[in-house]
Amino acid sequence: MSAAVIRPSRHRLSPIYARPVLSGLSHDMSLLPILRYPDPRLNTRARPVAVVDDRIRRLVDDMFETMYEAKGIGLAATQIDVHERVIVIDTSEERNQPLVLINPEVVAASTDRVIGDEGCLSVPTIYDKVERCAEVTVRALDRNGQSHEVRADGLLAVCIQHEMDHLQGKVFVEYLSALKRNRIRSKLLKRAREDEQAA
Ligand SMILES: [Zn+2]
Repeated sequence: MSAAVIRPSRHRLSPIYARPVLSGLSHDMSLLPILRYPDPRLNTRARPVAVVDDRIRRLVDDMFETMYEAKGIGLAATQIDVHERVIVIDTSEERNQPLVLINPEVVAASTDRVIGDEGCLSVPTIYDKVERCAEVTVRALDRNGQSHEVRADGLLAVCIQHEMDHLQGKVFVEYLSALKRNRIRSKLLKRAREDEQAA
């Protein structure tokens, strides 16, 4: 299982599931461009959200729309060039369990570690192994600014740690060897140049 992207070959989502299932929407949502590694803006440390207001709720809704459209299971605001501590996640197969983590803090983490294959919407088509805590408990604000605690294991635990890294300015490939990282960087830069020429 990858952490922040669902491998297309293993999970085929019908278009209806690619839409966010959210209540209380008050505006048209927008798809936001996702920064691609090695864009240096991905290395920005996000600041805490001061108040969960309509601007933040709109950001959350737009992030869900962007994440579902890209068939990801998690998205940090950093990835859309907004440097505030906001994460959206949905690791459910049915794409109907949206989780909002604003100003998340880890309050407990297991000493047990797991190694899983991770991917990232900012590092398309690249998957590699990263070691994480098997279980984490995070405290965060939800879409209404209410504090809640999430105890997670399995894919959700990995996803939360992956997204929280983004808020610190860290991309998962930065855990890999310099050799692998440079190879990934060259590959993605080459692809970006090709995309530019094709456009
Ligand atoms: Zn990511």
